[in-house]
Amino acid sequence: MQQKAKSIIFIDLDHTLLDNFDLRLSAARHALQVLFPEHALEEALSNYSTIIDHTYAFEALGFSSFSHYWNPIEIYAILVLLTNDNYFIKAHPEAAAIAVQSTWADLVNLDRTVHRASRSSFLSDKDFFAALLHVHEDKDRLKTFADHVKRILPDPVFREAQQAYRQNLAWKPLDDAIQFLRRLQESDFLFYLVTEGLAPVQLEKVSLLGLQEFFDGRILVTQAAAEPREAAEILQAAQNIISERGQFPADEESSLDYLTLAFFHGLIRKWADKCNRQFYGRVLHAVQINPAAPQERLHEVEVLSREEWLARPPIKLAMIGDRYDKDLLPVLELCGKEKSITLRVRQGKYKSVPHPQQSDTWRSLTVSFEEFSQVEAFVFDPKNWEAIDPVPWAKIFDEPPSIQSAIYIDRAKKMGVPSVQKLARILENEQR
Ligand SMILES: [Mg+2]
Repeated sequence: MQQKAKSIIFIDLDHTLLDNFDLRLSAARHALQVLFPEHALEEALSNYSTIIDHTYAFEALGFSSFSHYWNPIEIYAILVLLTNDNYFIKAHPEAAAIAVQSTWADLVNLDRTVHRASRSSFLSDKDFFAALLHVHEDKDRLKTFADHVKRILPDPVFREAQQAYRQNLAWKPLDDAIQFLRRLQESDFLFYLVTEGLAPVQLEKVSLLGLQEFFDGRILVTQAAAEPREAAEILQAAQNIISERGQFPADEESSLDYLTLAFFHGLIRKWADKCNRQFYGRVLHAVQINPAAPQERLHEVEVLSREEWLARPPIKLAMIGDRYDKDLLPVLELCGKEKSITLRVRQGKYKSVPHPQQSDTWRSLTVSFEEFSQVEAFVFDPKNWEAIDPVPWAKIFDEPPSIQSAIYIDRAKKMGVPSVQKLARILENEQR
């Protein structure tokens, strides 16, 4: 007998449930007032945005990710060195030794190099940036700049700016969005927060916005899907073998173990790289396996086989987001035509980004709204759900089988590392 379909709704966070961008820029303006006179504020704000947009250059120099954490004290120290007119340099003229124009050029160049470099190799982020900086032509000038930033960092004025940002960051969800969530809570819909980013950052936002009551255990973040539980154990096992390897230079077994771990680690890195495309598929599997609390499930490598998927109640899916390319297109590509509802709410930073051209075959399937109340009316109209088919089973692991992988999978089964054996078993099953 055909089981009744469950109606499921994925909701994006940034710019969908809150106006993230304007909130942050407004807080940053208050922070910059601590450091810059009124007439220099616009230039400072523009440089602040440029630094966030080129976060890879700063990560390569050992700073934290500015695009995820908009408010580390380092960003303010960098700003006063790269923006001419400010109170700090006036009080410390000796700190103005940086050649501003050429440093910007070096940083943009470094950022571009990071974008171009492939991260699929067997390297941690730290090792990747170190290796990249090692061969970069501007490395000495850039290291001098980073040292300069670290030297001025203890000045209390940067912490004062950081404090001003915190005090003025007024997190507030959009009014219509809260009303919609309350109505969902009282309905039969299963709904989830599905968002790109780092788990601690997104979870903190949910907490600051007071949204936990709606999404307890149902917050699905890309980082979680990109970091399977096995990754840490595989990296640690690989590092152990590397450190022991010097003692057994002629030991072929150790060398083969090392290559096997490198193969699996490389696979995990590649997996993380393409996680955006697979993300919604993994979320669907997690939701199908544990509808009440899929959040923890997202770290697991295992997904449902086609037979297991078909044995469970079918799912009908709606995705609500502010961006066609990031939020809606992946769902359309995953589910296929007429097997999902995609709703775009035009608000926040990306509201003016045009919709795709008429020639895009997916276009007619996305409904675009200006306000959340219109989204609500659409979602609560049963006709719109009757019009779509359930989502098909999502195939997750699409690495083509190769002789090389067969050798490593075979070797992995002989190794005494449980996570490697588990990964090997899963890959073997997927590939046959
Ligand atoms: Mg968004």
